[in-house]
Parts: sequence; C-alpha cells; structure tokens
Amino acid sequence: MTESDLREAICRQARSIFERGLTHGRTGNISVRLEDGIIVTPTGSCLGNLEPDRLSRLGPDGELRSGDPPSKEAFLHLAVYQSRSEAKAVVHLHSTYSVAVSCLADVDAADVLPPITAYYAMRVGRLPLLPYYPPGDRRLADAVGQATARDHAVLLANHGPVVAGASLDGAVDCVEELEQTAKLHLLLQGQRTRYLTEEQVAAFQRR
Ligand code: ZN
Repeated sequence: MTESDLREAICRQARSIFERGLTHGRTGNISVRLEDGIIVTPTGSCLGNLEPDRLSRLGPDGELRSGDPPSKEAFLHLAVYQSRSEAKAVVHLHSTYSVAVSCLADVDAADVLPPITAYYAMRVGRLPLLPYYPPGDRRLADAVGQATARDHAVLLANHGPVVAGASLDGAVDCVEELEQTAKLHLLLQGQRTRYLTEEQVAAFQRR
C-alpha cells in the first residue's frame, strides 16, 4: 500500500468505527507504521470526520514532520511499535464494554476475559490488564511497551484497549472482537457459564 492508500484506509476505518459507536466524541486513535515513522490521527480529532491530508506524520522518534499535531496518546502507539517489530497498525479506543470490563474489581490481571468463543481465542487470545495511570503519564508507555512485547492486545485499567495488528484491518477486527466479547462477558455476569476448555483454546493458538 502507498502512503496515500494508508491515509485513506485510516480515515475509512475510523469513520466506520465511529459510526458504529465503537468510540465516542473525540476519543480513540489509530496509527499505521511506515518505513521511517508512523501516521497517526491528530489530537482533538473525531474519528468520524478525519481528512487524509491532515493526519499526523511522525518520524521514528515521534517528532511531527507534517500534518496536524498528533493525538496526545501517540506515545502509546510508538511504544507498541518499538516493542513489537511485526506490528503494522495500532488501534486504541474508548469502547464502552471494554472500558466497563477495565473497571471491574477482582479480575485476573494476567488475562482479563475468559475464552467465551473461538473467534475471541483466535483474534485476541490473552488480554492483560495494565494498571491505571493518569492521561499523558509516560509510565503508561513503559507498561504498554512491556506488555505488548508479549501480547498484541492489552487493556488499560479504567481507560480502554490498545491493539496491534499485522495490518490495519487485522487490528480493527481484533479490537471489535474484544469489544463484543467484553459485552458478552458482562451479559453473562452472575450466570453459570460454560467457557471453552484449555484444549479447545489450544487448538486456536496460532497467532
Ligand atoms: Zn485513551
């Protein structure tokens, strides 16, 4: 894909995410990796209404090269790309059900959601919960970098998911699967539930 194609793809996916209510207002940010940096959605922008030419083009160290100033959460994206060489795209949303799960007490922080469906096991797998940090706190970048060296999807406590993919479409598929599974998990709270067995999950571990 050319850079121009990638810019169009970000705007198309962002609009789809916004129109389906997967993030609200001016929340959420999306990036793709280039050979020498990233393209990321601008600060204060609404995912429903992006313009390809105004997306922020950052160099490898996060310096702005062209476009509008980047999302204040761009440092999360850079941390993922640094720790995960195969990542080509990163999506971070404030998707309602995932955020709700990120606020639950007494969860297993090593893996927040149980394996409810095969699609979740395939597309997301393990989902660590990272501690809460205030917006813009650089310690969050360290925590995200460490966690994404191992897992391609992480959940920030009282905040939302960060997902890396080998392509933009792959990252969006993953964050959507995560959101739907978070919804199912909350629907099933208090009900006796049959999850996939370890054996059934092992059959899908091909990430
Ligand atoms: Zn956020």
